[in-house]
Amino acid sequence: MIHMTMETTKTETERKYCKGCKRDLPISKFGKDQSAKDKLLHQCRECHNRYQREDRQQRKEYLRTKEGQRSRLLERKYGVTLKQHKQLYTDQKGRCSNCGASIPYDEIYVSYNYETKKVRGLVGKRCFFQEIIMKGGGVI
Ligand SMILES: [Zn+2]
Ligand SMILES: [Zn+2]
Repeated sequence: MIHMTMETTKTETERKYCKGCKRDLPISKFGKDQSAKDKLLHQCRECHNRYQREDRQQRKEYLRTKEGQRSRLLERKYGVTLKQHKQLYTDQKGRCSNCGASIPYDEIYVSYNYETKKVRGLVGKRCFFQEIIMKGGGVI
């Protein structure tokens, strides 16, 4: 009987420091994380939930911006990240990969090969639509 009481007291008094709210809390306040050394999240439940909420909120707001919408579209349609897209644009020196005309970043289109599932390059509006007409909707 005494033994059991001691056991309970132990788990209740065992504490862990939360980096989020900078408090020493009983480990029961922490969620589980199998990848962590002590199998607990490094933030308490409260902080963890708040962090996730903020993260979601931030992502939601980002997706409302022009850049966020572009990023989502690029990933969904072509499997490239916005970073890769920008890099490609820089690599092409801001020019259409087809005709070499200088194109502003906001007006660049992705030339995508649906057979190889690869981005051919970035093109200007004119070349983009020409390609669609010529190849029967091969690019978009
Ligand atoms: Zn906390
Ligand atoms: Zn062009």
